[in-house]
Amino acid sequence: MSNEMSIIFLGTSSAPPQSNRKQSAMVVKYKSHTLLFDIGEATQYQMIDQKIKFTKLTIILTHLHSDHTLGLMGLLITRNFRNIKTPITIIGPVWTSNFVSLLFLAYRFKPEYEVKIIETSGGKILENKDFVLDSFPITHSDTSFGYRLVTKPKRRKFNVEKATKMNVPRGEMWKKLQNGISVEINGKIISPSDVLDKVDENNLKIVITGDTPFDEKVIDFAKNADLLVHDATYPPYEEERARKYLHSTCIDAAQVAKKAKVKRLIMTHISELHKNLEESLRDSREIFSNCEFAEDGLRIKLKPKD
Ligand SMILES: [Zn+2]
Ligand SMILES: [Zn+2]
Repeated sequence: MSNEMSIIFLGTSSAPPQSNRKQSAMVVKYKSHTLLFDIGEATQYQMIDQKIKFTKLTIILTHLHSDHTLGLMGLLITRNFRNIKTPITIIGPVWTSNFVSLLFLAYRFKPEYEVKIIETSGGKILENKDFVLDSFPITHSDTSFGYRLVTKPKRRKFNVEKATKMNVPRGEMWKKLQNGISVEINGKIISPSDVLDKVDENNLKIVITGDTPFDEKVIDFAKNADLLVHDATYPPYEEERARKYLHSTCIDAAQVAKKAKVKRLIMTHISELHKNLEESLRDSREIFSNCEFAEDGLRIKLKPKD
């Protein structure tokens, strides 16, 4: 299976509706996993447009503000209409479980599939053979979390032919080499790289802040990430407003990217107050050149380097 990761931006607007941008939602596809970060009002429509399946999905909420959660019930109800029986997992901050139960009660909704809820208060949330997902607190709402997804590099394959050729006896020695330990045979050192085929050794690290003001914590968490998706609600001249409402300007986002030495920055949660997005982008690029504003429908691909 390909080790390429796809990121699809479904909604890139701040809360008030705009004609060309929908509210926050972003999909990360990696191997057999589809992770949906936030689920703003129009998310299920955007998913249909972008051909994202409703079946196998993990929903991850950065926080419970309405512009990040209004699409949740729509999507869950549609799954009943479509007779989808696969379970769904919803990850979110403390109160997510109550939040979902209250919505079900309000709509008299009974899902015909299992709904699993994981509440995070920071730290590791999920680990499987393909990736580790963890979260860190953000100063935005009562309980907001940023998320970090780190893929696991493929295990290097043991080359039986090479080992046989080098007269490495099967058993204990093979095991050692597979576990990265050198062995000695008749005075000759055989190192793991002699018998393990080279595969992609690096992982991918992406960080999604959700709504956030400029925050040193994000810099720590996003260190050397391949991709940082950061709040850039306001243009440079709205700094005061950004501080007041606990959001970022596009300058804040660029500064975090620069300090964290990430490889690439995508700025999202864009307000109409950006009168001239090109100017905002120019200002950001003066600080951190490899950055861009997200657009609804923007797709990017990441691949680990050899
Ligand atoms: Zn928001
Ligand atoms: Zn918010």
